[in-house]
Formats: sequence, structure tokens, C-alpha cells
Amino acid sequence: MRYDRDDDGVVTLTLDLPGSANVMNSTYRTAMAGAVGRLEAERATIAGVVITSAKKSFFAGADLNELIRATPELLDEFTSMLTDVKGQMRRLERLGVPVAAAVTGSALGGGLELALACHHRVCWDDASVRIGLPETTLGLLPGGGGVTRSVRMMGVQAALGLITEGRQLRPAAALAAGWVDELVPSRADVVERARAWVLANPSATQPWDRPGHRVPDLRPLDPSTYGLLSAAPAVSYQRTHGCYPAVDAAIACAVEGALLDFDTALEIEGRYLTELVLGQVSKNMISAFWFQLNEINAGGSRPQGLPRTPVRRVGVLGAGMMGVGIAHVSAQAGIEVVLKDVDTTAAERGKAAIAERIERDVVKGRLDAQARDALLARITPADAYDALAGCDLIIEAVFEDRDVKNAVLAEAAAAAPDAVVASNTSTLPITGLAKAVATPERFVGLHFFSPVHRMRLVEIIRGEHTSDETLARAFDFVLQIKKTPIVVNDSRGFYTSRVFGTYVTEGIAMLAEGLPAALVENVARRSGMALGPLEVCDEVTLTLPLKVREQALKDGQEELAHPAYGVIEAMVALGRTGKAAGSGFYDYAAGGGKRLWDGLAQRWGRSDRQQGERAPRAGSVRGAEAGVGIPEQDVRDRLLYIQALETVRVLDEGVLRAVADANLGSIFGIGFAPWTGGTLQFVNSVGAETFVARADFLADAYGERFRPPASLRELAATGGRY
Ligand code: NAD
Repeated sequence: MRYDRDDDGVVTLTLDLPGSANVMNSTYRTAMAGAVGRLEAERATIAGVVITSAKKSFFAGADLNELIRATPELLDEFTSMLTDVKGQMRRLERLGVPVAAAVTGSALGGGLELALACHHRVCWDDASVRIGLPETTLGLLPGGGGVTRSVRMMGVQAALGLITEGRQLRPAAALAAGWVDELVPSRADVVERARAWVLANPSATQPWDRPGHRVPDLRPLDPSTYGLLSAAPAVSYQRTHGCYPAVDAAIACAVEGALLDFDTALEIEGRYLTELVLGQVSKNMISAFWFQLNEINAGGSRPQGLPRTPVRRVGVLGAGMMGVGIAHVSAQAGIEVVLKDVDTTAAERGKAAIAERIERDVVKGRLDAQARDALLARITPADAYDALAGCDLIIEAVFEDRDVKNAVLAEAAAAAPDAVVASNTSTLPITGLAKAVATPERFVGLHFFSPVHRMRLVEIIRGEHTSDETLARAFDFVLQIKKTPIVVNDSRGFYTSRVFGTYVTEGIAMLAEGLPAALVENVARRSGMALGPLEVCDEVTLTLPLKVREQALKDGQEELAHPAYGVIEAMVALGRTGKAAGSGFYDYAAGGGKRLWDGLAQRWGRSDRQQGERAPRAGSVRGAEAGVGIPEQDVRDRLLYIQALETVRVLDEGVLRAVADANLGSIFGIGFAPWTGGTLQFVNSVGAETFVARADFLADAYGERFRPPASLRELAATGGRY
């Protein structure tokens, strides 16, 4: 940390800690302690302080390595570290001379907290800069004064809106929110502006250190305050279903702190943070959304040592739902797109669908007209294979029919002989499809998820003959379009569809056992799943699991006896095939909105008498909560355990190759509960031994599909983890 004093008596503290970004580790704490001590000693002779950074970003925030390792034994150490950090900031803002932050790059988490402890924030107005307190997205809260200061600056409601969603704002939005005070177009001028402010404002103090300061929107005994206080937890519960202690803690901390003096509020904030740091959910989320996501983005599953060549021109075959989405995200990333369908009308219709979608972004101010025009100009609709000449990548997204795909792939590969050729198939093994092209080493699976412009994951499937070069190019392309790649070996259903299938069929199996559909759906949501198994089955259509089973049988796989199939077959026979048909497990109203179909209870629901006849199971408390014979905890565990168990099997078979891919793939691809940190981290957090015992119990009670594989028993026996 450099300490430079100029002729006007302004000290510039430049943060330049070892590493690529400034983080709040022990080096920072020691350096800051020294700097604050020296500022206090020299206070009488200095005019003010400017804090800035020598790195690309201003400050990256807390040291997550430190936080993820925190255990109850290290509690004292953690508390004293937190007290130090906050104490230094407090001394800085009460130095008696003006302190300004020159925010020359992104200030996130602890970085923004340091800036908030300055009297004034000048920020570089650049598209690369992000300002925010994203701690809750990692299961934590801004415990370095972030909650306490934001609440006092902008009010409980505005601060909580930003903090509980962990929003990262662009500079203009940060200015509007009140997190920064001034924007400067040129990076080179930021420090100078901050310096000028310091010289012009010799008697700066923080608003909360002035007599009579109040939190803007909190008036004890005022009805509007009651409204706010009772609504906030309810609104957040709708989103979190109680699975995210950090969100609840942030709300409690903001409200309690707002009613107390500043220093007590800081202390309370620290206690809430400590509780979260020691809890399991933050460990799960830090491990998935920080360490494992970074591992993936750094190329953990990419073949090493191969050059990175960006894709410039991509050919998309099929302008249906998926093709349109793939064309959209590719053009958005600056790639030229040839969008081919059987005729130009179909291809043009695909482009028009993209135009319509991005128009909404223009209306909402997320995209300007120039960017929209440029994006659309990159998409060329086509009906002939010649148009694919010069493509470096071709992605096939025509009907899910092996013969159609074979014909299309052969022609496309011949039209662009140097291109990597990919299929977006969701069910057909890649090695078989590769036979359609002359050079199967250039062939790979690129499995996108619907809706493509929203879903972050792309599952890359390596066929038997896929070369390292092809895999690397596919991997780089996925990063180029700003999505998260996982790499799996070829197998039926790859990774995500297999796990997804177990979730859906488990939900339906419970229906077959007579559980109320609403219970299954609600427990799924309350477990943190993005969608209930029945609603998500309606989305993909009920015929899909039947088609997958039929194809598997055709390819010689053993008949799979699963209690769900009877229900699915009956539903399909009734013509209730899902959302696209207007009815499935739900009824869909013409103007939007849906409601569980009444007929489910009549067909599969059990009367109380029938329930009573069922033999009580060992260890299973007859369900007061569920009301139908099995406790809610069993419903929840069945939905989560079955997916974790299938993930272990996929790993055992060598289809999955990395724990990070398993965890992020489950969260981003199939909406597995993010608070768990993913399917394998879920096993870790339960503890392998406990997990095995519980899975055995579920197997005895509900079916052999819950029996843990040998590898998992071994992991439990040796005290291991994924
Ligand atoms: P879709 O029916 O919406 O679109 C298919 C498009 O392919 C149609 O526009 C059709 O005209 C076009 N097409 C057919 N034959 C063609 C040919 N010979 N040349 C060019 N275009 C041709 O289907 P979709 O839902 O977009 O699915 C496409 C592929 O993506 C399938 O393989 C599907 O399994 C897979 N997939 C779908 C999803 C999903 O959620 N829908 C998810 C992942 C993968």
C-alpha cells in the first residue's frame, strides 16, 4: 500500500497488494493498520486522503479462502479479524480530514465497503466497472459495514433491495442508488477529481456521525414502517423459500441496526456475518459459485496446451426454439451467424423471433438501437448448405430424429470442411451421430438448455472419436458466448438429462403412491429446486420420458421398471401431454397462468382409509405434515437424494469427469437447489456416512433406486468427500 503525500498535503493511499486483485486478507489488514496509524499521527499536517488502487479493479472484497476455512474453533480469530477491519474503516471516516475513494475499477463486497467508509466516492464511468455487495449470492452478508452504511445512506428498503439480491450495478445505476457520488469518463482523471473534492471539502464527516441523523425510511411508530417491516421477509421468502439464511440475516441485520446507534449496529452486523460464515450454506455456495466456477472458467475441463482461436462465423441448423436461441446468444457475442432451415421463410421467421425478443431489451433500456441493429445484421437467414462455407463451427438443432440429423449433418460437414460440427441433441448418443460426418474427430455434442438466452449452462459431450482440438474449440466457444461449459463423456442422457429424469420420475412416483400433487410441488420448491417436478415435466412434455425409454429399449437396454411410467402413460393416453398441448399435470389458461389439474387427486389420490391400511415404515413418522402417510422430510429427501445418487452413478461410469462440472451442471442446467452447492456438494454437506444411512433407509422404504452405490459406501467408510 503506497503512501504518497503531495505539496497540498493530500495523501494518496494506493492499494497494490500481492496478487492480481486487492483482497481483504491479512496483508491488507496489516498494511491498512500501518496506513491508518500514520494518517492519525500526521493528521495535523495533512489536508485529506484519497484511496485508490493500482490494479485493474478497485478492490475485489473478502478473502474467500479465509472465509471458507472458518470453523467454530477459529471463531475468536475470525471475530478479531472482523473487528480489526471495521475498526480501521471507522478510524478512517473519523480522521477529521476528508477521505475520498477514487474508484478506478470494480468495487465489490469488501471493496465497496471500504469505499463507503470514505466521505466521497468518485467512480470511473466505464462499461467494465461493477459496484455492488454480492455477498448474499455466496451465502454471506456485507459484514464490513456494508449493511449498516448502505441502510443509513439510502434507507432500509433500497439497501435491502440491492443487498438481498446481491446486485452488481454499472456506474450510472450506482450513482442513482447513492453508492457513488460522482462519475468521471476518463480513468486517468478519477484520482485528480477525488483530490479536488478533498481540497474543496475540508470539514467532511459521515452523515451518521452528525447529530440527529436518521435512517431515511425508518420511523418507529409510523405505519409505513410497519408495512415495510412486515412485507420484507414475506417478499423475500417468495424467492428463497427459507433456504437462504443470508437473506434472512441481511433483513434482520438491516432492521435491527437501523434502530440502534451506528457502532452497535456494526457490531450486530458482525455477529450475523459470523453466524453465516460458520454455517454450511455459505460453504456450499462459496465452493460452487466461487472456487468451482472459477476452476471451470479457467479451463479446468479443457484440454491443455492448445491455442485459443475465437469462433468468427457459426452455422446454426434449424431455426426452431433452440436454433433461434443459439443464433441469438452467438450474435450477441459478436459472432457472424448463418441461420439455416428447410426454407427461407422458416429461417426468416427465426430471425424475426430474435428481433422481437431483443426489442423488449431496447424498450427496457438494456440495449441501444445501434447495438440491436448490429446484432441483427450479424444474422443471415439461409436455406442452402452453401451458405455455411467459411463457418468455423456448425451447430445442428433440427428435429430430434436420428435420420433427419444424419442427413443434415453429412451435408453441413461437407459444406464447411474445416468447421467443428456439433449437435444439440438431448437424447441421442454423440458417437453414433458422428458416423454421419466424414471426420468424426471434428464432431462433438453441444447441449444447450431452454430458454437458451437465459440458461447459463452448456454441456459439452465428448464422443469416442472427438479430438482434443475439437473439444478445446467447443469449450472456448461456450466461454465466448458467456456461458458455463461442463465436459462429459458420451452416454445416454449424458449427465444433466439423466439426473433431471430421476427428479421428474421421482415426483411422479409420489403421485402414483397417492401423495397430493400440490404437496410434491411445494416441497420441491421449498427444498430450493427451481421448478417442481410436475411443472417441469409439463415444460418438456410428458412424451419425452416415454420416447427416451423407448429408444433405450430399442438400443438394447434393460426394461426399466419405475412407478412413474404408469402415470405418464395414463396422462398421455388422456391427451394431457404438457404445457404445449395446453394441459398436462397442470391446466394452462389461455391468457397465461396455470393450476394443478383436479383429476390428479381423483385418479391417484388416496382416501384416508386407504392410507391407514398402509403398513407404517420403520423410522417414518406417519406424516402429520404430509397428511398422507409419509413425512414431508421424506418427500424432500427423495427429490434431492435421487439426483445426488444418480450423479454419483454418472461419476462412477466415467461420464462425468470433474466434481465442479457435476455441481455447477446440476445447478445451472437442471435447477438443482443452489444453496446445496450442487448434487455432490450436497452429499458432502450431509456427510457421506449420514447420506449413505439415509439413502439405505429410503431404499428400504421406497425402492432400490435409492440404494447407494459401492463407491459412495467406500467414501463414507473412509471419511472422504467429493
Ligand atoms: P423445433 O421443432 O423447435 O425446431 C426444429 C427446427 O429444425 C424447425 O424449425 C425445423 O423446420 C428445422 N429443420 C428440420 N429439418 C431441417 C433440415 N433438414 N434442415 C434445416 N432445418 C431443419 O425443435 P427444438 O426444440 O428447437 O429442438 C431442436 C433440437 O434441440 C433437438 O435435437 C432437441 O432434442 C434439442 N434440444 C431441445 C431442448 C428443448 O428444451 N426443446 C433442449 C436441449 C436440446
